[in-house]
Amino acid sequence: MTFATLGLIEPLQRALDTLGYQTPTPVQAQAIPAVLAGRDLMAAAQTGTGKTAAFAVPLLQLLTMEGPKVAANSARALILCPTRELAEQVHASVAEYAQHLPLTTYAVYGGVSINPQMMKLRKGVDVLVATPGRLIDLFRQNALKLNQLQTLVLDEADRMLDLGFSEELANIYRMLPKKRQTLLFSATFSDEIRTLAGQMLNDPLSIEVSPRNVAANTVKQWVVPVDKKRKPELFVHLMRKGRWKQVLVFAKTRNGVDALVDKLQGLGINADGIHGDKPQATRQRALDRFKSSDVQILVATDVAARGLDIEDLPLVVNFDLPIVAEDYIHRIGRTGRAGNTGEAISLVCADEVNMLSAIEMLTRQTLTRHMEQDFEPEHRVPDTDASGQVVKKPKKPKKPKASGGGGKRNLGKWVDSGEVAPAEPSIKPVRKVPVFNTGPRKKK
Ligand code: AMP
Repeated sequence: MTFATLGLIEPLQRALDTLGYQTPTPVQAQAIPAVLAGRDLMAAAQTGTGKTAAFAVPLLQLLTMEGPKVAANSARALILCPTRELAEQVHASVAEYAQHLPLTTYAVYGGVSINPQMMKLRKGVDVLVATPGRLIDLFRQNALKLNQLQTLVLDEADRMLDLGFSEELANIYRMLPKKRQTLLFSATFSDEIRTLAGQMLNDPLSIEVSPRNVAANTVKQWVVPVDKKRKPELFVHLMRKGRWKQVLVFAKTRNGVDALVDKLQGLGINADGIHGDKPQATRQRALDRFKSSDVQILVATDVAARGLDIEDLPLVVNFDLPIVAEDYIHRIGRTGRAGNTGEAISLVCADEVNMLSAIEMLTRQTLTRHMEQDFEPEHRVPDTDASGQVVKKPKKPKKPKASGGGGKRNLGKWVDSGEVAPAEPSIKPVRKVPVFNTGPRKKK
């Protein structure tokens, strides 16, 4: 099966071809014809299954072929995402798919100034990607009208509910035109999601694809606990010790990428970075140079790293753990491809314990820890396991008040000064979802 046989127009086929998408994934094969036929969808599919293209590509085709030009302060399609990272990521994919189409796309989310977003919306946008809270703010400030909306996508609906957006979703529901196409994507289908689907969807086609959430067993994975501030030093140490030749390194932020690249280049190491702030041409050049081994270390953020396909990559290093647990699978999936074996090493500090726990829960395995001599962390990384529990060391019991009595008292279990646990960061109990909210906070 090809994208052409699914009925996609040439500019979309060309864009997918450029991205290296040759064959539709199962969710794409099922969703694309149904969306093109105007059906509502209820799809059980996780990140990693190709679900973004499954809804975005046919949606872009419908917007190109049907409907009026977008009006001022309007959107013709709305994609709701739980976090700003996902909104950015989905928008980046949509923009890539739409690169040869006469359509405009934009992403809005909280945590940044609303004014530029209001200005941008003045002319209207064909596809708006949004987090729920900011969408409502824009609507209430009359910066956005939804009466022209043809298609609504709820991406990662279960996570939106987990993050406490049910009230926002109910409000958005009231703002929508009755006649529209609605596509709902969710990794799981709880009663709450089914209720939401019952309200929002009209005779939906149900699609289910098996999750790709178990990491390939051709990748040897391990974790090195370390204090945050010593990560760069540890990275260089491991690199020299292991004589790493070609390494793809993931950092959480754009600044993190730049800082590590600067540090490595300062040491005379042949490194380059790619992230969303860099122009596409620069990113492509860095990637090409990495692929041809002109660059030894390529440092990337998740957004920029999407879709990277590098043959025979032996090693992936997570300099920081990803905010979204599923991204761990994407990241390490860059090695150990096509039957080759690979290695994935994660440098983990105490602050990241909840992320580590979420990854272990998602991949259903406890990652082996290797303590590197001379880099043992002062801030201990609490024990984790695949059940999602973070095991805190028992606190040192308080000294009982001196009462003057010399009798034998129960003093609890005392810890010799020699065995006092190193200072622990304050860690909230881990939530039983493999996801971290960095987007808008729930308003109580
Ligand atoms: P998603 O589940 O939408 O987050 O996509 C997961 C990854 O698969 C992304 O890096 C996409 O760029 C990539 N992808 C999606 N569809 C295809 C396809 N048909 N062929 C190759 N890669 C794809």
